[in-house]
Formats: sequence, C-alpha cells, structure tokens
Amino acid sequence: MGEVDYTLVNRLATEIGPIFDRSVDILKGMKMPDESYNVIRNQYYARVLLSKLERAKANQREKVLAICEEDLYVPDENFVISYADRLSGVSSVSLFQIRQEFYGLPEDERLVYDRLYKESVSQMGYLLEIPYCKNARCVHYFSRNMMEIDQKSSKFCDVCARMLNGKS
Ligand SMILES: [Zn+2]
Repeated sequence: MGEVDYTLVNRLATEIGPIFDRSVDILKGMKMPDESYNVIRNQYYARVLLSKLERAKANQREKVLAICEEDLYVPDENFVISYADRLSGVSSVSLFQIRQEFYGLPEDERLVYDRLYKESVSQMGYLLEIPYCKNARCVHYFSRNMMEIDQKSSKFCDVCARMLNGKS
C-alpha cells in the first residue's frame, strides 16, 4: 500500500509461500485510504486500513497481507508495527518503525527485510489461527518493537511448527 519498494514485496512473496504451503499472488498496489489518516497523530488508523483490505479479498479462504511505509496506530497504542483481524483474514505490516533511520541509525535494507519477513511470517501464522508464542526466540513471539524483532529467530519453534503442520 502506498509507496513500497517492489523488490521487498517480491522477495517476501517468493519466500513466504513455501513456509505455509500456499500460493502467493501480489495484488495491485493500493493507495493508503485518506480516511485512515489521523491528522493530529500524523499516523494511519490500522483498523480502517484492514477494512479496505477486507474488500480486496477474492474469497473467504484467501488471506491478505498489506505492506506499507506509513506509521500505523490503534487507539490504545503509540504505534503498531503490524495489526491483523483474524476473522476477516487480513493484516498489515508497517516498515516505519522497523527502519533503523527511525532510531537515528544508518539504513540497512537487509535488516529491514529480515524484520519485515519475521513480522509477516508471524502475521500469517496468526491469521492461520496459531496463537502468539511465549518463546522470545520463536518467530511467532509477539514483538512490540524493532529490538524484540531482532532478538527472535526467523523460524517457528517446535511447538508452533507442530501446530502449523497440523493445519496443512
Ligand atoms: Zn513458537
């Protein structure tokens, strides 16, 4: 959604499919919905974004994951890196809080991709009804910030992997 580096999206689409044994289509880019923008917070309301994604779904089984550069929020949080609605099968991941430059550090696209990958794998796991994991090393641990994403691995732990296998 919005202006996102296509090489990141393309690489993610290629690598995430096999993890879940599903085919992945890259949908046509969408504009960030104006109605999701909160001028006071200078952020985008994740729930409004998700309702737009829900309308883009081709069928009930399909899951839609949006990638954007804009900073997302929900009312009780300062920001959200990713946000999902399991019932409607849609999720969004923002690159805003996982770019190093946000913390005044030099940009590193490889790290940005690693973080995007981990968040996206975890979001897909969540959409496939695998509960968030308590193991801080597991990719499906619920990360609140960039540091927590960096501390976890890019793989499911044994417990989550077993649940995932049970679903395919
Ligand atoms: Zn796990």
